[in-house]
Amino acid sequence: MKYVLVTGGVVSGLGKGVTASSIGLLLKACGLRVTSIKIDPYLNTDAGTMSPFEHGEVFVLDDGGEVDLDLGNYERFLDIKLTRDNNITTGKIYQYVFDKERRGDYLGKTVQVVPHITDAIQEWIERVAKIPVDGQEGPADVCVIELGGTIGDIESMPFIEALGQFSYRVGPGNFCLIHVSLVPVLNVVGEQKTKPTQHSVRGLRGLGLTPNILACRSTKALEENVKGKLAQFCHVPAENIVTLYDVPNIWHIPLLLKDQKAHEAILKGLNLLGVAREPELKEWTARTKVFDELHDPVTIAMVGKYTGLSDSYLSVLKALLHASVACHRKLIVKWVAASELEDIAAEEAPDVYKAAWDCLKGADGVLVPGGFGDRGVQGKILAAKYAREKNVPFLGICLGMQIAVIEFARSVLGLHDANSTEFDPETTNPCVIFMPEGSKTHMGGTMRLGSRRTYFNVTACTSAKLYGNVNFVDERHRHRYEVNPNIISHLENAGLSFVGRDETGQRMEIVELPSHPFFVGVQFHPEFKSRPGKPSALFLGLIAAACGRLETVLLDNGHVKRSVSNGMSNGHTMVRMCKNGGTMKLANGSINGVYRNGNGVHF
Ligand code: GLN
Repeated sequence: MKYVLVTGGVVSGLGKGVTASSIGLLLKACGLRVTSIKIDPYLNTDAGTMSPFEHGEVFVLDDGGEVDLDLGNYERFLDIKLTRDNNITTGKIYQYVFDKERRGDYLGKTVQVVPHITDAIQEWIERVAKIPVDGQEGPADVCVIELGGTIGDIESMPFIEALGQFSYRVGPGNFCLIHVSLVPVLNVVGEQKTKPTQHSVRGLRGLGLTPNILACRSTKALEENVKGKLAQFCHVPAENIVTLYDVPNIWHIPLLLKDQKAHEAILKGLNLLGVAREPELKEWTARTKVFDELHDPVTIAMVGKYTGLSDSYLSVLKALLHASVACHRKLIVKWVAASELEDIAAEEAPDVYKAAWDCLKGADGVLVPGGFGDRGVQGKILAAKYAREKNVPFLGICLGMQIAVIEFARSVLGLHDANSTEFDPETTNPCVIFMPEGSKTHMGGTMRLGSRRTYFNVTACTSAKLYGNVNFVDERHRHRYEVNPNIISHLENAGLSFVGRDETGQRMEIVELPSHPFFVGVQFHPEFKSRPGKPSALFLGLIAAACGRLETVLLDNGHVKRSVSNGMSNGHTMVRMCKNGGTMKLANGSINGVYRNGNGVHF
């Protein structure tokens, strides 16, 4: 097993995660099998209890692990399936050590950060790196480890110490350290400044780690003399310094690395030059070109909580993007804050209300994503009603599906107080109820989580066709509530169709409205398994329906014929805010792949 460690310096938000995923992709393109580990030095055991509005979305894995969104980037770029143990946190490591201490495994010794915590980190890395994640047997060839945070953070110190020991232990030729740093350009003189990188490399060395490769974020390619200076002061050969300059979207990053021969430097560092082939990225390059040249728009209204942080719905946005690229459409996401669609907004802020409704009405399709808590629920219900009544393509995910059912029960069955017990525990018409196996006292890891099977009980439905006429699908879940099985027959008699259910037939997984061009709600989260080049079936359905091409896709069993791109402009995905005066903060992994940080650096 060979290890590539990716660290970050100078500032956070440099796109370290995407860089690490791109390195993995590049090595995979060289014919190597790649796995990855993300280290998050925070104390939380996992991301499950962390607010997506502060930290970005909680990504869910097949095994039910609730993890950092960077694991989503790895799964998407490398087309692999990771496990919960591929995300290491300080909380998990301490928990592991505490458990050992309570069992008496330390034989009366004083338990300390060095060596006990640092040993636990190294053991964890070695154990998890061996888990096959690409569907093949046996361990991968290379494990890419990303250390979250920035060099110098107090909480990452034990990890740095452990990784220093680890690199020494596995030895040169088995370990390659890539340090992602920033080379800012001072506007006054337009000069690329190397000092911040020099300092951060010095910090890294001071902690016992020596970088083999520098990946420098900057607006433009580094000038030769700048590279020379970095090489001299950081003791890294100039050919091992690559620039991650601004590009139109993140799919360019692996290509950027390849063009600068980053793979050669890494393979050399890992003693793999003779084993690996030249990177094969034909399909990836072609798709990136299609993405760059998209022209005809497709507009999707995302009706959720307004947060100002697009990372809160990262996988949904990525899944929309994959489907739009497959349909050769330029994705425009219009963000509609659900609460602004509500009657109360009409009274309190009529302009805001009008703008929100104009946004919704201007969209080709409506998506209501997952969520928790009652804020904006009424607005989401109104959006589902609008889509249902006006025959606008609709996809409801998790809470979005529950909302669609509540709306139908209210409007069509006339049950005006129909609700979820999550929002109104006293409702006389509970359409959505707490699942019996859930826990109301413990929040972390107690939902119905991870991959579960959904069987199609109606095989001729739109969803089954989109999935390629299969009998069942395995998708990832994260919920506490479910559609009340007692009201299914009433809803079905009124025209709603529960086409997908769990193995008991009692738990509703997919709902459709057969009389509507495309109205689908799912209890699971299909966004987590969408990949560039392999869009999620239901997202493809939504986008195809939104551009009037659903029939063609259905005839082709859920595939899009590879037609030629029609349009040659420099189109990128756009996130448009309908929130008055609001700006969307584009943080790590943002929808159009444009990265920004405080220095205005982006790619
Ligand atoms: N709050 C809902 C539930 O727990 C929906 C969850 C979600 O959308 N992920 O069932």
